[in-house]
Amino acid sequence: MEGPRSRLPALLRAAARARARAYAPYSGFAVGAAVLAGGRIYAGANVENSAYPLSACAERNAVALAAFAGHRRIEAAAVVGGEGRPAAPCGGCRQVLAEFCAADAPIAYASSKGRSVTTTLGALLPDSFGPADLLKAAAEGSRSSSKGPPGRRRSAARGRGTRGSGPPRSR
Ligand SMILES: [Zn+2]
Repeated sequence: MEGPRSRLPALLRAAARARARAYAPYSGFAVGAAVLAGGRIYAGANVENSAYPLSACAERNAVALAAFAGHRRIEAAAVVGGEGRPAAPCGGCRQVLAEFCAADAPIAYASSKGRSVTTTLGALLPDSFGPADLLKAAAEGSRSSSKGPPGRRRSAARGRGTRGSGPPRSR
């Protein structure tokens, strides 16, 4: 094993450690996640809220930490949750990971008992909508003024990639 895939065992261990710090008093379903970015591991856990929809998944919290540290590319990710069946990333988290992961980025998810599944982001979320779609639309919008409100398109393009480096361009 070489490359990011070889880091999956370490990512799973980090996710398991993070899971112990989850705040999940309502569901009782603790989840930990860890992502690899720039050679470093960023881990998070789910944080629930008494206003249920405001709860945040472990994967999203880990991705946010990596992004906040300045990374714009996530090379691999791991999730630990569930007692029997390994808890796969939810649909929303697959989309959040797709913002920073290539389709071939390895993803592992495991139950707290250790059974694990290894796959890729592209297998979890095939043919996803991503940064390239918006950047292409923004480029087309700047060439043609006949398609909808230009102000909106410009603000969408401007709102992306603060602090220099934007979203990953090659996927
Ligand atoms: Zn999720």
